[in-house]
Amino acid sequence: MVFHVMLVPTLGCPSNCSYCWSSEVDSDLMSIETVEEVVKWLKNFRDDTVTFTFHGGEPLLAGFDFYKKALPLIKKGLEHLKPALALQTNLWNLTPEMAELFSEYNIPIGSSIDGPEELNNYQRGEGYYKKTMKGYEIAKSHNLKVSFICTFTSHSINYKEDILNYFIENGLTLKLHPSLPSMRDENPEEWALSPEEYGELLVYLLDQYLEHMDEIEIMNIDNLAKSVFRRRGTVCTFVDCMGDTFAIGPDGSIYPCYRFVGMLEYVMGNVYDHPTMDDLAKSQPWKLLQEFKEYVDVECKKCTYIKFCRGGCPYNALAITDAEVEGVDPHCTAYKRIFKEITDRATVEMLSGSGMVGNSKRNKNSIMSLMLKGS
Ligand code: SF4
Ligand code: SF4
Repeated sequence: MVFHVMLVPTLGCPSNCSYCWSSEVDSDLMSIETVEEVVKWLKNFRDDTVTFTFHGGEPLLAGFDFYKKALPLIKKGLEHLKPALALQTNLWNLTPEMAELFSEYNIPIGSSIDGPEELNNYQRGEGYYKKTMKGYEIAKSHNLKVSFICTFTSHSINYKEDILNYFIENGLTLKLHPSLPSMRDENPEEWALSPEEYGELLVYLLDQYLEHMDEIEIMNIDNLAKSVFRRRGTVCTFVDCMGDTFAIGPDGSIYPCYRFVGMLEYVMGNVYDHPTMDDLAKSQPWKLLQEFKEYVDVECKKCTYIKFCRGGCPYNALAITDAEVEGVDPHCTAYKRIFKEITDRATVEMLSGSGMVGNSKRNKNSIMSLMLKGS
């Protein structure tokens, strides 16, 4: 896991997606002074290279002037950590001026579309699709790399073929996101996918991906295959994220991850105090996540996949137990299903010789090809 800092300039968002748990009306905007403090804090915090992701709410609400100042501050102030930058946005507020700036800093963009316009707007609100696509066109015309998170819900799972075809036909990179219960949602189950449905969906996408590898990129399947091959997680869900991931809220509060931003009980410190790792380790949220890690060591001990699953996402686990460490990520069933599927298929390929590394006749649409993709 690389060191990852998520900057949340605001929890405000102009869209109103039905299943969203991360926006807050009247949220403050992060000031440039706070970004300066982030830079001062991280200067001597740890030596590893760092990735910053601007996240929300909707981070573009911070405006052009914020980014014009914040980006060079981070790049120059933390030069020794070789900071990489990324942005997660619905693209509604992207202007050509901003796109030009993001292109200068080579910033990859993650956005969100749930499939064809009608289905997308049913889940994300009337008008959403056109506003995002307008921003996407601006991003494309400035050569920005955009990939799309597609949230599958208990509703859209019924249209999975249409959704996949939509992404293939439009040549869009897809990152799957299952709708999940939130700690801040009064009716968390309404849109959530059950673990069984999620497992089925992952296997369906694996099958489809192997057929259409030249036409689409499905980031989750790539990551799952790589995790099995390397026997360690390659995304935060499947590693012990504590200590490698932090999120900074609009006022400089430090949280374990963007999913906790805005919940006071998860504040670990503030960038204005320049806390050390040891200071953060004394905070309650750190202790809670440490407790989760120890729980996983015991509860998942006999699981074949523990090395590259690590009990899944602690937020997901805590969200359904009222913040008590009483279970692992509720998607355990789905993870077991897809890890087994990948492992079994890779074994068959290896035994038949078709998946052997260095075999020039290796089927390009094989699990081994997925595992070795990009290596
Ligand atoms: S809490 Fe979950 S989403 Fe956040 S960094 Fe950890 S694994 Fe990732
Ligand atoms: S698949 Fe389930 S049992 Fe296995 S490590 Fe992951 S959460 Fe634990």
